[in-house]
Amino acid sequence: MGELRYNYLWNTWVVVAPERKKRPHDFVLKADGDTDISRCPFEYGKEHLTPAEVFALRDDDSAPNTPGWRIRVVPNRYPALSPSYTPVQIANFHTSLGGYGFHEVVVETPHHYRHLHCFSLKEVEELLWVYRERMRTLYAMKEISYVLVFKNYGQWAGASLSHPHSQIIAMPLIPPLVKTVIGQFKRFLDEEGGCYLCAEIDFELSSQVRVVYQNPLFLVYAPFYSYSPFQIRIAPKEHLFSFADVEDHYLKYLSDALKTGIGRLFDVLENPCYNLYIHTCSRAKEEFFHWYLDVIPRITHIAGFELGGGVFINPVSPEQAAQLLRKR
Ligand SMILES: [Zn+2]
Ligand SMILES: [Zn+2]
Repeated sequence: MGELRYNYLWNTWVVVAPERKKRPHDFVLKADGDTDISRCPFEYGKEHLTPAEVFALRDDDSAPNTPGWRIRVVPNRYPALSPSYTPVQIANFHTSLGGYGFHEVVVETPHHYRHLHCFSLKEVEELLWVYRERMRTLYAMKEISYVLVFKNYGQWAGASLSHPHSQIIAMPLIPPLVKTVIGQFKRFLDEEGGCYLCAEIDFELSSQVRVVYQNPLFLVYAPFYSYSPFQIRIAPKEHLFSFADVEDHYLKYLSDALKTGIGRLFDVLENPCYNLYIHTCSRAKEEFFHWYLDVIPRITHIAGFELGGGVFINPVSPEQAAQLLRKR
């Protein structure tokens, strides 16, 4: 029943081993009910509980760090990386690089209970616009090589606060996984010619079995080598290497694709915990890169085989997942 599938971009393997007796919701680790709003630091009037904002979208002339914002970006109070460190390399036997970087929280809405899957098209578009703006700003900072935008929804996805938020980490190196992806795009270009993801998108559009949804500019599909049940990937159909350089009119279509994709996941899985991230080129702007956004419902646990071998076991075939997600 099991099948080893190769993930070319990540140069890794997954085991797809469908457990036929289970239905989609049997797998799901549901997100918690929302926590105590009175202790939430992301409410109107609680702006003083976070570090001072670095960016905000505001409806009126309201002052920074007061109510009146629609989306607010603040430094993480407990940052993994901080601009106050220097990116000095220390190498004796081991190597370290200081803790230099930026770690920001994007508070997506003032409404504690209004999560991404409930957002209007316009709200999703504004959030994507903010991601892009922060990415542009952070790539302009000295010594920053990579900016990773990601979101953790629900406790099984690592969210410690339930108020709708995303995070951005800008760091002085390219994370290993992204470095592999960059290398694999280059490998495909050298060995086969062209772009791997353009070729994959063409293939998925012609075969249709893993397609979930599409609009004129974006494809939503379940990758052949999905490492998690109901993983979906959203990618521009056109070859675009940099999310930071995406033009405004693309964001409307990306919003439609993301809202639809997440909406289908919530229809089928009923409030799953999930992670979301954007893989884009590094600051060096590798033009052979093709950016994409993955949504990973957190359904299976990372266990011995994953930690020891780096191989994920996916108990739901991407073809079955796509079929369920298409129907809705
Ligand atoms: Zn809140
Ligand atoms: Zn491409």
